[in-house]
Amino acid sequence: TYFKILILCAAGGGGFATYAVTGPINAAIASSDQDGEMKAKKKKVVIVGTGWAGTSFLKNLDSRFYDVQIISPRNYFAFTPLLPSVTCGTVDARSIVEPIRKIMKKKTGDIRFWEAKCFKIDEVNKKVHCRSDTGTNLEGNGEFSVEYDYLVVAMGARSNTFNTPGVVENCHFLKEVEDAQKIRRSVMDCFEMANIPNQSDDEKRKKLHFIIVGGGPTGVEFAAELHDFVDKDISRLYPGIEDFVKISVIEAGQHILPMFDKTITQFAEHKFEREGIDLKLGHKVIKVSDQSITMSHKESGEISVPYGMVVWSTGIGTRPVISDFMNQIGQGDRRVLATDEWLRVKGCDDVYALGDCATIVQRRIVDDISAIFKIADKNNTGKLSLKEIQGVLVDICQRYPQVELYLKSKNMKRFSDLLNKIDDDLDIVKFKNALSSVDSHVKSLPATAQVAEQQGKYLARCFNLMKAGEVHSPKGPIRITADGRHRFPAFKYKHYGQFAPLGGEQTAAHLAGDWISIGHGSQWLWYSVYATKQPSWRTTFAVVSDWARRFVFGRDSSCI
Ligand code: FAD
Repeated sequence: TYFKILILCAAGGGGFATYAVTGPINAAIASSDQDGEMKAKKKKVVIVGTGWAGTSFLKNLDSRFYDVQIISPRNYFAFTPLLPSVTCGTVDARSIVEPIRKIMKKKTGDIRFWEAKCFKIDEVNKKVHCRSDTGTNLEGNGEFSVEYDYLVVAMGARSNTFNTPGVVENCHFLKEVEDAQKIRRSVMDCFEMANIPNQSDDEKRKKLHFIIVGGGPTGVEFAAELHDFVDKDISRLYPGIEDFVKISVIEAGQHILPMFDKTITQFAEHKFEREGIDLKLGHKVIKVSDQSITMSHKESGEISVPYGMVVWSTGIGTRPVISDFMNQIGQGDRRVLATDEWLRVKGCDDVYALGDCATIVQRRIVDDISAIFKIADKNNTGKLSLKEIQGVLVDICQRYPQVELYLKSKNMKRFSDLLNKIDDDLDIVKFKNALSSVDSHVKSLPATAQVAEQQGKYLARCFNLMKAGEVHSPKGPIRITADGRHRFPAFKYKHYGQFAPLGGEQTAAHLAGDWISIGHGSQWLWYSVYATKQPSWRTTFAVVSDWARRFVFGRDSSCI
């Protein structure tokens, strides 16, 4: 698991302070609430999805300003980092979910929730078309459409099978709460089936061969949980059975946990080897049948192994409704919905996307320089004075935090250091060249809860300020300035670190500032971060008591 450190999570929005509109916002709210006409004019904000991004947006939005509607096939928020713990009964599924209506109840204003799936976004008519999953008995098959002024797309992603034959039919995924519950039942079924009398040892070995495809954080954490479960609980309840149990992790790359520091990767690999977890590195799964899984390796070629259960955890893919939307707006050649740094979907108006379903595609800085120069070069001379150049650089650094980071990485603390590197006679070509290397430093953000949550918080604050601006500005919304640039600072991601629980009460932590810690101490840090990051006091209490119950009584092994 990889997750941010809680204590720092309140940071990140400070940049907005400089953009806050003047005047008593509360007074404006009061007057707008009293004014019936204003109420009717509330803009409709539709949030699609109740995951990390959607819920974070909802929690931080000042819902008094907007008419808010939420659409999602699940009426709860799920704390996904603890899903692997649900698979072996360490934590109960109900302990990690919070009903969305409870979250809504804590807010003021008009908020409605529709339990349905969005199957089409019509950005021309500003509508989303939805269908209730329980809709067959409903009028019109449970289909309806919702109009919006602003649409917040936070539908997450689906598991990616890379179109490998047999995966959908024969493998488990670990993406939703239902998946974790199914895995839990399936794990117990494997043990009960292997325990039925008159079975050969080979048959037992097959039933108790658990395969995890994908050596990322989710796959590794599940493997570690399963190993702990067998080691601590199953071996006591099913004497002698652990000799038949095998856990394999198949990874196409050369290492597990590739996104972590090398120290952590090596530690995890050695730990798994010591514990008898079979690591099949450099193996690519090509087919899964109902009996066996087939994989290929550069040197050993193709091999098929029988299994009892396979969990597929190889990353994420695009949901069909998002692909369809991307085709509509001319993003058909992309894998993920592209937004700008203000989370606005490229190619359409008033649609925002955040979390796993979107990626920020930053405008290349060099392409942007011309526009900035043009604005600064009021007299059209083709050259700028030092003062003007400094203004341009301040502007660039505000819009592109990575330029500032780049300057720092090159020990250029001041803009003038950069200017000296060019020469006195600055023109646009030289300037472009000087900054072009910055572009290559721009990386896309990881698909994590940490990013999704920060984006939700950021966008909600933009919406809050935007509305406050509308109330105070006689000229109307202040969102976009005349030259098409956003009035608010761009989204800036803060990485607080990530965890990888490795079982046996040991966790690897790679925290901000390149601080690495592995072992029992980090496990306690993991416990405290995840206990405090829970969506409510109820879930905090439930999760902590689940952990305590597990310490005292062990995991529950019933097949419910
Ligand atoms: P989600 O949280 O997936 O939410 C998507 C929402 O959209 C859901 O409510 C869904 O029901 C809804 N939806 C789906 N389809 C539709 C539709 N058609 N119409 C309407 N609504 C729809 N990240 C970390 O940072 N740290 C971790 O430790 C960590 N551990 C993880 C462990 C597991 C097992 C998994 C699966 C993920 C983990 N992640 C972790 C990643 C993290 O969960 C995701 O990055 C995060 O959930 C993304 O948030 P999201 O809001 O974009 O999507």
